[in-house]
Amino acid sequence: MGLLDFEKYASERRTSGDPHGTKLRDAVRTAQRSECPLCTVLDEQERARLHWLAYEGLTDVGLRKKLRASKGFCRRHFRMLFDAASGQIYNLAGVADVMSDLVRDDIEALTSAAPGGKRGRRAQKVVAALRARTRCRLCEAADEATERKLRTLLEALADDAFRAEYAASPGLLCRPHLVIALTRDVDDVVVDALVGKHLATLEAERDGLAEYLRKRNHRFAAEPKGDEQEAPLRSVKNFAGTWPG
Ligand SMILES: [Zn+2]
Ligand SMILES: [Zn+2]
Repeated sequence: MGLLDFEKYASERRTSGDPHGTKLRDAVRTAQRSECPLCTVLDEQERARLHWLAYEGLTDVGLRKKLRASKGFCRRHFRMLFDAASGQIYNLAGVADVMSDLVRDDIEALTSAAPGGKRGRRAQKVVAALRARTRCRLCEAADEATERKLRTLLEALADDAFRAEYAASPGLLCRPHLVIALTRDVDDVVVDALVGKHLATLEAERDGLAEYLRKRNHRFAAEPKGDEQEAPLRSVKNFAGTWPG
């Protein structure tokens, strides 16, 4: 159970409709070249979570209390929340409520130590009062969702037929998700499938990048551009994780 109690307030059933991993398996089948299906599903789920939070979640008193301990969210999630709240229906009341709490706490923190006294003492006290006591709840929820989805995917990959589908799909786990997957206790056949596919993709990427760079050379610049033009973007997404769009 996450600190934000997302399962209680916004279960996977309500936010993403994928309690049995159906969407995840579909994402594997429909992933574009070098697209990570896990990233895609997790991004979609996170957007749903943010949407729920922006429109309903921030009114919850228990949640607001927890947000005071975590000092709101990390920069990325604050931004996502603000975008969600200011998107379709411009309603920042929930954000204003949360910020009122946080601003009040910070004013208290900044006035918690009187000027003067031993050198550095005031700064130390203020910092202690400003610091978050818990991690960003949305980062926490994202980690938990990753664990759940990864478990589902690895279980699915134990099936011969689905493993063959993974092998045939143009998409594959991104490098960060591959690393996490390989730290889990899975059968060698699953490890072989994941590593084999990643290696084959990287070898194709290496050739694509070389071709891209070759055509950047003025001697070959007149040659028609092809698939290699997408190689830098594909390679970055595979290396760092796929992003939406
Ligand atoms: Zn990924
Ligand atoms: Zn965060």
